[in-house]
Amino acid sequence: MKEYHSHTFRCKHAVGDASDYARFAYDHGYETLGISDHTPLPDIPVSQEIRMDISELDDYVQAIETAQESFPGLKIIKGMECEYVKQHQSFYTDELRGRHGLRYLILAQHIFRSNGEWVFFWKGLKGIRELKAYTDSLIAGIGSGLFDFIAHPDIFGAFYIPWDAEAIACSRAILSAAKEAGMPVEINTHGYRKKKIDTPGGLRDPYPLEPFWELASTYDLPVIVSSDAHKPEDLGAKTDEAAKLIRRYNLRSVDLPGL
Ligand SMILES: [Zn+2]
Ligand SMILES: [Zn+2]
Repeated sequence: MKEYHSHTFRCKHAVGDASDYARFAYDHGYETLGISDHTPLPDIPVSQEIRMDISELDDYVQAIETAQESFPGLKIIKGMECEYVKQHQSFYTDELRGRHGLRYLILAQHIFRSNGEWVFFWKGLKGIRELKAYTDSLIAGIGSGLFDFIAHPDIFGAFYIPWDAEAIACSRAILSAAKEAGMPVEINTHGYRKKKIDTPGGLRDPYPLEPFWELASTYDLPVIVSSDAHKPEDLGAKTDEAAKLIRRYNLRSVDLPGL
């Protein structure tokens, strides 16, 4: 088993450190564990409560290296989950990949600009304007060439309820950009573990968004399944649901290339 999406206590909404996740993964027969906590973004006025401080970066990398030494039988990879922020290009390349030697970066737009303001996903999203702003920022991140795969591209399903022409157009734009860039898209099982949301069609998971993945099947994209673990025992949780989704829509599941 391989997992590329896991967090540490530094993001302020996960528990455990790299070694705790490594212990669980090792005990459960994993081959590969990627640690990918939420990146620091020092000068962004929103969402600081869900990410590590820039001053914790050295310690984060050190903790992963300690886990690597403690579990030589497990391949542990240094990564980070990042929002694409245009003015931070050199931070991703020089700091994260360069100075800190991170091997992969996940693209996840929890924040973006909408109407001249920073919007934090879990607080500011409500309608079509935000859906479009999310889509534009994600596509900019895909086009940047900085990232290895796209986390929960369908996370907009948590706030934009209908599967209507707007949702389909944005989904197509995201999927086309991923296809053009040759970037894998992630089925993120954290959404299956969150509270269901009430919609006119009944209760549903905020994400993964069923019709998004049905549409994705027509793009023949590589798909990565992640449990997005925020505690060690989340590793592998609900990945059986993702496997069903993959079978249902004949999706193409892959490992992260080059790692
Ligand atoms: Zn998180
Ligand atoms: Zn995550």
